[in-house]
Amino acid sequence: MGQLSFEEDCLVRELDSRYYGFLDLSKSKNSEIKSLVQQTVANFQNYIANGQAHEMKNALDNKNVIQKYDPSNVVVEHMENTSSQNDEDTKILDKETNEKNFICDEKPQDEQYVNALCKLGHLHLLLGEYSEALSAYQKYLRFRENNYWTNHAFIYGIGVAYFKLRCFKWAIKSFQELLYLSPNFTCANEVHLRLGLMLKHCGEFHIALKHLQLSLLYTYPSTFSELQVKFQIAHLYEVQNKHKAAKDGYEFLLNEKNISLELKADVYRQLGWMYHCVECLGEKKEREANALNFLQKSIEAEPKSGQSLYLLGRCYAGINKVHDAFLAYRNSVEKSEGNADTWCSIGVLYQQQNQPTDALQAYICAVQLDKDHKAAWTNLGILYESCGQLRDAYACYLNATKQISFQSSLLRRKQAIRMKKDTIGLSKGLSQRITFLEGQLSQAPLPSITSKRRTLCSIEEAWNLPISLEMNSRQQQTAQMLPRQNTKQSPIQGPPPPYPHSQLSQSPIPAKRIKEDGSGQPDLMQNNIQTSSQHQNLINISETLSQRNFNTMPESNKISEQSVLDTFDDISNDIYKHNETIKLERLSQDALSNNLNEDSRHNKYNGGSTSDLSTTFKIQMDSKQLMAAVKLLPIDEPPVHCTILQVNAPPPSPPDCPPQKLTRDQLLPPTPSVHLENKKNAFSPQLQEFCLKHPIAVVRGLAGALKLDLGLFSTKTLVEANPDHSVEVRTQVHQSPDENWDTSQGKRVWACISHRSHTTIAKYAQYQASSFQDSLKDESDKGFPGSQAMSDSDSKDSVSNSNIVLKRKKHKINSKMLRFGTNVDLSDERKWKPQLTELQKLPAFARVISAANMLSHVGHVILGMNTVQLYMKVPGSRTPGHQENNNFCSININIGPGDCEWFAVPDAYWGGVHNLCEKNNISYLHGSWWPVLEDLYKENIPVYRFIQKPGDLVWVNAGCVHWVQSVGWCNNIAWNVGPLTARQYSLAIERYEWNKVQAFKSIVPMVHLSWNLARNIKVSDTKLFELIKMCLLQTLKNVLHIQEYVKSKGVEIRFNGRGKNEASHYCGQCEVEVFNVLFIKEQEKRHVVHCLSCALKLSPSLQGIVCLEEYRLSELQRVYDSFTLHRTQGLAYTQ
Ligand SMILES: [Zn+2]
Repeated sequence: MGQLSFEEDCLVRELDSRYYGFLDLSKSKNSEIKSLVQQTVANFQNYIANGQAHEMKNALDNKNVIQKYDPSNVVVEHMENTSSQNDEDTKILDKETNEKNFICDEKPQDEQYVNALCKLGHLHLLLGEYSEALSAYQKYLRFRENNYWTNHAFIYGIGVAYFKLRCFKWAIKSFQELLYLSPNFTCANEVHLRLGLMLKHCGEFHIALKHLQLSLLYTYPSTFSELQVKFQIAHLYEVQNKHKAAKDGYEFLLNEKNISLELKADVYRQLGWMYHCVECLGEKKEREANALNFLQKSIEAEPKSGQSLYLLGRCYAGINKVHDAFLAYRNSVEKSEGNADTWCSIGVLYQQQNQPTDALQAYICAVQLDKDHKAAWTNLGILYESCGQLRDAYACYLNATKQISFQSSLLRRKQAIRMKKDTIGLSKGLSQRITFLEGQLSQAPLPSITSKRRTLCSIEEAWNLPISLEMNSRQQQTAQMLPRQNTKQSPIQGPPPPYPHSQLSQSPIPAKRIKEDGSGQPDLMQNNIQTSSQHQNLINISETLSQRNFNTMPESNKISEQSVLDTFDDISNDIYKHNETIKLERLSQDALSNNLNEDSRHNKYNGGSTSDLSTTFKIQMDSKQLMAAVKLLPIDEPPVHCTILQVNAPPPSPPDCPPQKLTRDQLLPPTPSVHLENKKNAFSPQLQEFCLKHPIAVVRGLAGALKLDLGLFSTKTLVEANPDHSVEVRTQVHQSPDENWDTSQGKRVWACISHRSHTTIAKYAQYQASSFQDSLKDESDKGFPGSQAMSDSDSKDSVSNSNIVLKRKKHKINSKMLRFGTNVDLSDERKWKPQLTELQKLPAFARVISAANMLSHVGHVILGMNTVQLYMKVPGSRTPGHQENNNFCSININIGPGDCEWFAVPDAYWGGVHNLCEKNNISYLHGSWWPVLEDLYKENIPVYRFIQKPGDLVWVNAGCVHWVQSVGWCNNIAWNVGPLTARQYSLAIERYEWNKVQAFKSIVPMVHLSWNLARNIKVSDTKLFELIKMCLLQTLKNVLHIQEYVKSKGVEIRFNGRGKNEASHYCGQCEVEVFNVLFIKEQEKRHVVHCLSCALKLSPSLQGIVCLEEYRLSELQRVYDSFTLHRTQGLAYTQ
């Protein structure tokens, strides 16, 4: 391998992941750089393979040991298990670890080696060698587990590699961390865009929109145009069935002068297809004409688009122009873009023309291209059934019902959630068909079926039949176009064989692609139940297929085989052609000015500079020392990341579950409960202690003991008081409490349907009453179905748990819908005076407002947290699984007359619940989920389960995960409290930081609250004191640093002060809390508060932005300095 000259070396040295998408090494003009890069890669590989092989092995072994026996874990185990055996183990381990560390210290050249791995990752990435890049990055990560987060180019690089390899879960995680650590990262706009695309793909539409909009804010160079992002946003509306917004978005784009031909083709295609599918866009005839017109315009703009041709074929088929349809399909296949959808549609046309053999071939093509193609399998089944080949039909239906790819199941779920009430359970048709055939096949002796003269060859034969050369070559082309799969993400290898015993999985089938799929599936079977009307069915299928396709439209279909992500790359490459040089210049300037050359980074990654910082800032400093230290911080880069947890904390992530293996009994713990006899009990300090000690607790008989007038919260009183008051409504499926079924799939799932709408108290009351009346009629011979049904389990709460586990009831589809009246706001004292006054009778720790409640120190209303909310229920009303906002405690009182059933998981296990949500493709923070209990037990996660009767108070401790279902008709009232404990505070700020990573708004402004706490209370608990002081330190440091930075930009900071009870501020763009230094920009005639990062996105020089200060610096200094640990007399008082 040749040596590089100094200049060459410098050039390559500067390259890293941030050049990805800007420097295209496949272009001939960059061939020189490319060969330099390749040479460097070879040199690095040599270096790694030869010189360092031995050391690498040592270092890796060492790493494994440390990882496996993380000292902190050892300590925990040690504390929990005091056996002497364990004690000895710990000593041995400590010794081992020390020895290994010693070895590691002896090898300084490892540093160089480790950095070479990262560089290798960057270079592979720029060469488009993603697997190689990922492999190098992952090796690097193994050495840098304890400080990788200081290397932002690395996180970006590994994120892009994951993205390209379609490991979206990991790509999302990396990108979220990167934005958390560095919102002003050079390629932050690219990160937002990719996050937006992936989250859209995963069905997280709300958060996807947020990221796409944020990506538009930046003035940074970009690999995509503004119009392209706007196209994605319009499409985001389209997939959410927000047709009006989507249509407006598309039409806006068509009016833009500088729209590219390609984008124009995309827009016309989407619009055309919307006209074909969306009924609300006009009368059918007119819509069809529009659809044909737009699709033809799309083809004119981009004659190579096979996808538009395919859709044109679908439109023709829809209006029975069979010949034109065939022609269009044919053309589409000619463009080398024959995909499973095209072949499936061709099959439908053949089947309609009564050409079963041709239809069979086309369907086979479809399912060979996409083994999860439910529509094709279903149609194939219908085809076989119509020819009397029941066994083949049965096999096809089975394949149609299989849940194969996790991506498609995700989308199926999303679609299912959007399904209208009347479509739920339609795919029952398919399972009914299967049951019917099972019956037929078991009755008929097998030989008689097989010996019967067949019209079509069997599915097995058909699958193995050499298809026509043309079809075959199409398949291979398609296979080549498919992206490489990472094994992590695709646990299922090979196709699902038509028969369980067949060897079809060995046939050369293209790798499974991740695609948008399965939407509207249940519709497929709409009319398939009667076999007598086959032809009718087919037409319905093709109709419903169009529905399906509408929903499954790839984001942009220039390359129909690949989803939006590839299209996006195409788009970016097009744009890149135009202003490549400018961007490169800007990037290299950036690289220089940011001091991101290899040497300084070297330092940074080693933790050199960061560990310096951690010794500089500590809570023992007074404000003067703090100010002096801030003056030494660099101000050439904007200060961004302000964690309030600790100095240089890693990005927060869900914790592992406690490792201790639980027995079956421990998995079903008895619920901590107390029974109150009288008022004295209620006010005893022991009650509060009891509550604070357990993850969740039931206080029985509270209302009776305090003589609370629960009647004030009865539906009758509420209607009399404020009939027109607003009620949020959730429409849900009625199910038994420990079950959650996806009726369309006939299986237990986590996702739980909960549509939102609004009504009034009076109207809901009417519904609640009539629902009760109806049930009296229905159940007149079975007795009262409400609260009494479960009341006998009261004395032994946990027993009901085991009953349910043993009693495996056969699944019944019960698609009865119910409406749950939720989040009724009782904050207005003028409207709800008697109710709120009554609650003053509660003991202080449970009261809505009290000096010992952190939330009373916020200084303004946080609806539903430091105010009361009411819930109005009919049996089966569900509050899906969640932790309270920012992990605060909550108080819940059942007003009755019916009961509620509770499920709860201790906070230490929330990471485990989070992982299960992820596994079920549902967002822990944004999604509605109802855990499958067996899934929790399998993961060693314990669940409390109990009944809350009228007058019982449930105390939900900080961080406890819980979900609730009403057994009878009842109302509940609830609010949050924040006991002044270290545990409450630390869980609150941990969630505050994790919310930032997830781009989820924390509705408790923890920084603002912490400063108020420092002003208002004396803290004698050392841990709580240190945590609050750390928050003050970090925020004051950040405020000072921001002010220095702003002044260096020549911007004046104006004192603005704060109004009494003024709400704390959040950034209008990214929704993080903004404390003390507000950046105001007028947007659409409103003054919008921004954080520094978002202000810089809008205006890198901060020109046109007003900078306001809420508190005088002297005031903050005073609060900071006078917040000290309060020494109490004696040691007994910690509160
Ligand atoms: Zn912001």
